[in-house]
Amino acid sequence: SPSVLWFRRDLRRGDHPALLAAQDAAGPGAAVVPLFVFDPALWEAGGPVRRAWLAASLRALDEDLDGRLVLRLGDPAQVVPQVVREVEAASVHLSRETNGYGVRRDRRVRAALQDLRDRDGTGWVETGTPYAVGPGLVRTKQGEPYKVFTPFARAWREHGWPTPAPRSDRLDVLDLPSDDQARRLLDEALRLDGLPQLPPAGETAALRRWREFREQDLPAYRQDRDRPAIDGTSRLSAYLKIGALHPRTLLADLAEETGEGAQTFVTELAWREFYADVLHQQPASAWSDLRPALAQLRYDDPEDAVLAWQQGRTGYPMVDAGMRQLLAVGWMHNRVRMITASFLTKDLHVWWPVGARWFLDRLVDGDLASNNHGWQWVAGTGTDAAPYFRVFNPVTQGEKFDPDGDYVRRWVPELRHLPGASAHRPWDQEDGYSHDYPRRIVDHAEERREALERYEAAR
Ligand code: FAD
Repeated sequence: SPSVLWFRRDLRRGDHPALLAAQDAAGPGAAVVPLFVFDPALWEAGGPVRRAWLAASLRALDEDLDGRLVLRLGDPAQVVPQVVREVEAASVHLSRETNGYGVRRDRRVRAALQDLRDRDGTGWVETGTPYAVGPGLVRTKQGEPYKVFTPFARAWREHGWPTPAPRSDRLDVLDLPSDDQARRLLDEALRLDGLPQLPPAGETAALRRWREFREQDLPAYRQDRDRPAIDGTSRLSAYLKIGALHPRTLLADLAEETGEGAQTFVTELAWREFYADVLHQQPASAWSDLRPALAQLRYDDPEDAVLAWQQGRTGYPMVDAGMRQLLAVGWMHNRVRMITASFLTKDLHVWWPVGARWFLDRLVDGDLASNNHGWQWVAGTGTDAAPYFRVFNPVTQGEKFDPDGDYVRRWVPELRHLPGASAHRPWDQEDGYSHDYPRRIVDHAEERREALERYEAAR
């Protein structure tokens, strides 16, 4: 009898153990129903950029399935059992969710299927997760979760991961109609005005991007990854987020590489796994400080300044370039994520969740674990945090990591007339403000002092 593959953060056909399990379970002559459910609760919470990226990725998956991806709208606890009933499926297959809402939702869906089970004997089969090592599996010798990245990464490497699953090429798919409403949601999400320019979606595009990066940029990744003007990073985050690609696929290729670029890249993937592990261990860490010692810290709510930060009009070129890159393409370079996050939390004294929310709603790769823990790291409130007294200087950071000013000029047209590194200090140039670039909204040296005073007072 047929089996259902419920797609969520695993929108691909290759290296997909749950899909293979569904195929196996269906057996010869029976087919798999590839299902995606638009869950109104998640859809509404996602924001237009993530919705558009999801829609584009679903469309690509649908093409890979010859137009037979089944799209349904509604609470999965109703929709999944409904589909099971429609096709009289024997089992529902999925990749395991390990965090927050996903875990609670799956529990509800499973319970709803349990009610059917008495009649139909429907199985629930979880195979794999969106991570190389499932969150919760890397443990100290005492069986405790790790709180600090470096020992986690060591233990994570020692734990190891399976080799990629073979591609399910001869997939027999059952024809089942989609909801008109679900199709409409998908079309509308892509047609919205004012969306950033999205990267090409889907597994094929993701694999192509990986090949390009591996051949051209991986050897120099260690040096280039901190230089936002160089396109020296993989830009795979959005694909990993949606599961167009599994990290296991990347790690298998990386095992064949010898250079230090590959080693550094594995470490970056380990950060993604670490943050998912932290969120799994401490679900509340998504929106509240992990470091209670800073609970007394005093914050401000400067509306105009936050608006200037959001729109890239703070008068600090590196901050503004990053915030405008975010609005234009739904992605920001990692170095600049740190600089802009530090500016909001330490120069404007705003509590990190305000910034985390803004990022999540605008990033194509917006991910609760990586984003919110990245924010906590910068804010100094995280489990493995930069110390609070580390305040990024937006000007010297710019001069160091964008030494020729190319990144700033790319994203801030008002500074394009300033040559070289002078783009980082329009206030020192005679014609620095001749194209209406905004004046600095705060004095960094003063705000740094203020941040440190507040920190001392809170300790
Ligand atoms: P590469 O340099 O090519 O890295 C390869 C992969 O490693 C990335 O795709 C990503 O999956 C992982 N990775 C790299 N650095 C980190 C890191 N510090 N934390 C976790 N994973 C990492 N990453 C997200 O995927 N989603 C987010 O919402 C997100 N928000 C962030 C917010 C802040 C304030 C900060 C400081 C970092 C955030 N990051 C986030 C981490 C990092 O900035 C991005 O993963 C990276 O910029 C993505 O670009 P890339 O794929 O070219 O990275």
